Amino acid sequence: MGVLWLEEVDAGDVGIVGGKGASLGELIGAGLPVPPGFVVTAETYRSFIEEAEIDEALFGAVDVDPEDSGALREAEATAHELIIETPFPESVREEILTSYRSMGTEDDEAFVAVRSSATAEDLPDSSFAGQQETFLNVREADLLRRVKECWASLFTQRAIYYRQQRGFPHEEVDIAVVVQRMVDAEKSGVLFTSHPSTGDPQVTVEAAWGLGEAVVSGTVSPDNYVYDRESRSVESVTVAEKKVEMVKDPDTGETVQLDVEDDRRSARVLSDAEIEELVSLGETVESHYGTPQDVEWAIFEEEIYMLQSRPITTIREDADAAATGGNGGPVAVDADTDTPGNGDQATGDGGETDTERTNRTGDADGGDVLVDGLGASPGIVSGAVRIVDKLDHLDQVGEGDVLVTEMTMPDMVPAMKRAAGIVTDEGGMTSHAAIISRELGVPAVVGTGNGTRVLRDGGRVTIDGDKGTVRAGADEEAEPAEEFEPVEAARPETPVKPMTATEVKVNVSIPEAAERAAATGADGVGLLRIEHMVLSLGKTPERYIADHGARAYQDELIDGIRAVADEFYPRPVRVRTIDAPTDEFRELEGGEGEPVEPNPMLGWRGVRRSLDKPEPFKQELAAFGRLIEMGYDNVEVMFPLVNDAADVEGVKRHLREAGIDPEKHTWGVMVETPASALLIDDLADAGIDFASFGTNDLTQYTLAVDRNNGHVADRFDELHPAVLQLIGDTVERCRERGVDTSICGQAGSKPEMVEFLVEEGVSSISANIDAVRDVQHEVKRVEQRLLLDSVR
Ligand code: PEP
Ligand code: MG
Repeated sequence: MGVLWLEEVDAGDVGIVGGKGASLGELIGAGLPVPPGFVVTAETYRSFIEEAEIDEALFGAVDVDPEDSGALREAEATAHELIIETPFPESVREEILTSYRSMGTEDDEAFVAVRSSATAEDLPDSSFAGQQETFLNVREADLLRRVKECWASLFTQRAIYYRQQRGFPHEEVDIAVVVQRMVDAEKSGVLFTSHPSTGDPQVTVEAAWGLGEAVVSGTVSPDNYVYDRESRSVESVTVAEKKVEMVKDPDTGETVQLDVEDDRRSARVLSDAEIEELVSLGETVESHYGTPQDVEWAIFEEEIYMLQSRPITTIREDADAAATGGNGGPVAVDADTDTPGNGDQATGDGGETDTERTNRTGDADGGDVLVDGLGASPGIVSGAVRIVDKLDHLDQVGEGDVLVTEMTMPDMVPAMKRAAGIVTDEGGMTSHAAIISRELGVPAVVGTGNGTRVLRDGGRVTIDGDKGTVRAGADEEAEPAEEFEPVEAARPETPVKPMTATEVKVNVSIPEAAERAAATGADGVGLLRIEHMVLSLGKTPERYIADHGARAYQDELIDGIRAVADEFYPRPVRVRTIDAPTDEFRELEGGEGEPVEPNPMLGWRGVRRSLDKPEPFKQELAAFGRLIEMGYDNVEVMFPLVNDAADVEGVKRHLREAGIDPEKHTWGVMVETPASALLIDDLADAGIDFASFGTNDLTQYTLAVDRNNGHVADRFDELHPAVLQLIGDTVERCRERGVDTSICGQAGSKPEMVEFLVEEGVSSISANIDAVRDVQHEVKRVEQRLLLDSVR
């Protein structure tokens, strides 16, 4: 049999249909309505390569030196070409096409998702699996090619590297491919079978018209229904005004946005009967897996479909997580980090993985702890240590290695992307290493103090980015590094977010994270840092402008910012002017002349540098101006490290000179120094539209604790009463003055800070990508409590 239908398989068939196929089959077996589909079995792939007699050529081509990156690249290309160019045997071709056609009709071809389903569980280490390739909205014309592309994903450079490095024969790895019908949802949403933060027996259902993407893109807020599982009744119904919906264009398969007709705008999406039906399906999934579930669903022609189910991982003791580094970063842990796929189609496979990972997170032990530090980016991975002390050693960091360095620099980002994990000697939760690794979704332990000295180059270690430990040896249980896919696999799937009055935004520092960030459903970008874009040019802005011209410098900024502004449009994106300290500039070409400062954190950075040395600053503003002219009216301008009205008047003058009218265009400042908090009235008088708390700096300046100094990391407390008092007073003053307030420091991802800010009446909260979803729910919980308190 070349193909098996999903209902013919279950969890025991991983070897035949791969993990994904097996778990979708399992859901169907549990009586749940999953969109129909079939699996091109692992055996089919096997006979394809054998019958066409490309197997020897294929396995020969990928037998290369894993440390030779050129050879790896070539191996991938050869394998891809062999698989793609070899025709299908007629019988298999027919079987796949016949199965596909049976899902549609003659004049209505089905749109399907095609995704690889690795049989990795067969193997001693599942990191031998192929990449999690997925193609959406596929129709007959592309189907066979997509299946082959999934097969070819067994031979990505990363997969080849791993098998070669561990001496695992390529011949022994197989791959299946799931072909599943996509659902043209008329209504869709999510449901939590238990309360997402307290675990109470209360089902929350969120629902909007059309595809879930309408909500992901932030263009619509969903209805919210709460069902009490004890009294068995609908407890509350909150109907939102749903102005638009996303539907699929029947011809192209593209998703298009339509206005919702008046009579449906404020109509309830779900009837009580539908809610009850959803609740009962949710309960079936929960009892099948034995833990509360977060289920994506869709309704098409009155049929409910389960698109995916995952355990709710937000029901956690935050206190425990925070104990790791005192910074609460790991709260979100793995809620959304390992389910490849998309917002509107089934995967159904994330559930088991999530459960396993949650368990592991709880009791990962393994070898001796070699070094420890702060858990800066969650996840457990194993890999070989690569100690990097100079930039020119970066190419030694291969796919899946653990990059160990004193402190990461912007030039290291390509290596950070390849790495399975990151360990630094220096740095706190708001250091470059911590921020970038979170955005990349790479587990990281920072501030170990001695990682580069204690760890041995080439030795295998397991790092735990939650607990902040680096242990000897490979942890069998560790997340296979090879499956790690920064954008795809770690893309949070949040098709429907809770409706809240306080906006929940996301922080972005590298344009490559834009897609992941936008997929969180955040209401915009609360902080887009441009330091990375600038520093990765490898030259100081002055040198870059001297060598390539001002226009080229603007173009670089425009490219980076646009990548984010496009993903989010029309949601607002707050772009901040540069705020790099002199020690970072000094590393760059042209940085020889940078002043050597005893404490760069207290030195020539932020607007003080921009105002003193306006040439590059003018080009930044000119770039923002050009973006606005290009129609990016969602770009807002934010200025870092201001102290007083003189600073604000200074930057305002520059805004005008750059042709950005401060009266018409939204701009504001960061509140990062006690001075700016204390003088907020003066800043408001100077005309700012918003003030955004940069708690990384505000905390370091209020408490005199260097944010990058691992020795005092335990004293870096954004929830310190002094910091909270400055913030609380500033919010109050701003509310009186009609100035919006926000937070874009790391503390915006902490539930305690979220609770405090919502109570104080902050306008928006900007969180790390991995924390957005938890923050959305936390905001909702606090808002609901405040509402209830006010009527009781
Ligand atoms: C902050 O200080 O909190 C902030 C967001 O800015 P940065 O971390 O870039 O200094
Ligand atoms: Mg700052």
